[in-house]
Amino acid sequence: MLDVSIIKCLSDNYSYLIRDKKTNQIGVIDPSEFNAVDSEIQKTYKKLDFILNTHHHHDHVGGNIDLKKKYNSKIVCSSYDEKRIPGADIKKSDENEFSLGETNFKVIHIPGHTLGHIAFYSEKSNIIFTGDTLFSLGCGRIFEGTFEQMFSSLEKIKKLPKNTMLYCGHEYTKKNGEFCISIDRENRKLKDRIKNVDNKTKKNLPTIPITLGEELETNIFLRCEDKKVKNKIKMNNASKLEVFTKLRNLKDQF
Ligand code: ZN
Ligand code: FE
Repeated sequence: MLDVSIIKCLSDNYSYLIRDKKTNQIGVIDPSEFNAVDSEIQKTYKKLDFILNTHHHHDHVGGNIDLKKKYNSKIVCSSYDEKRIPGADIKKSDENEFSLGETNFKVIHIPGHTLGHIAFYSEKSNIIFTGDTLFSLGCGRIFEGTFEQMFSSLEKIKKLPKNTMLYCGHEYTKKNGEFCISIDRENRKLKDRIKNVDNKTKKNLPTIPITLGEELETNIFLRCEDKKVKNKIKMNNASKLEVFTKLRNLKDQF
């Protein structure tokens, strides 16, 4: 089993400090910056065995080198990105496994935001770290891949158990919710979630994690087959991929 602590970094990033309870092996997902992560480590476990990166963007790897130097950590990343991830040590491809002590993670290749983007999924702990691919109430911008790649990456995540806890790379939930409700206007569960998100945001609390089940009911990018959503954007007869493409383009201008 895993302990997860949320570390706020930069303006709206999240890094996650994780601990395998059985073995006390410690990892961090996407250390955006050295200082915030280091001070959390100093307050808690005082060591860092592994650094896990979802993708190569600076706001996800910014702390890699200094943390590695200080704690002698090993850096785990996508084999696709070994040249773009500072300090890469252990390279993983789709469906490879990585163990933090007794917690097993499956690496899932989810290209779209970047071509080498991966998620770390632990079936036993019911947790997935989705980086900048699936956000709470949103999804990442498509920088390197195609719309089709991003769409199939989200489809892979959609198939996981509904009680999977999602931990994503940014606190974008409030703004994302505004976009979802502008289209999915009658979605009662979405309205309830937005209230909840507003409350947390006002108190400066994270809106993460969230279950996949809740996302499936409220995140418009996972609801491209919904009749009301399709109707609202006048795409009643379009495919799911066409609807997704349209929504992603609308969001870019939102
Ligand atoms: Zn990114
Ligand atoms: Fe990012």
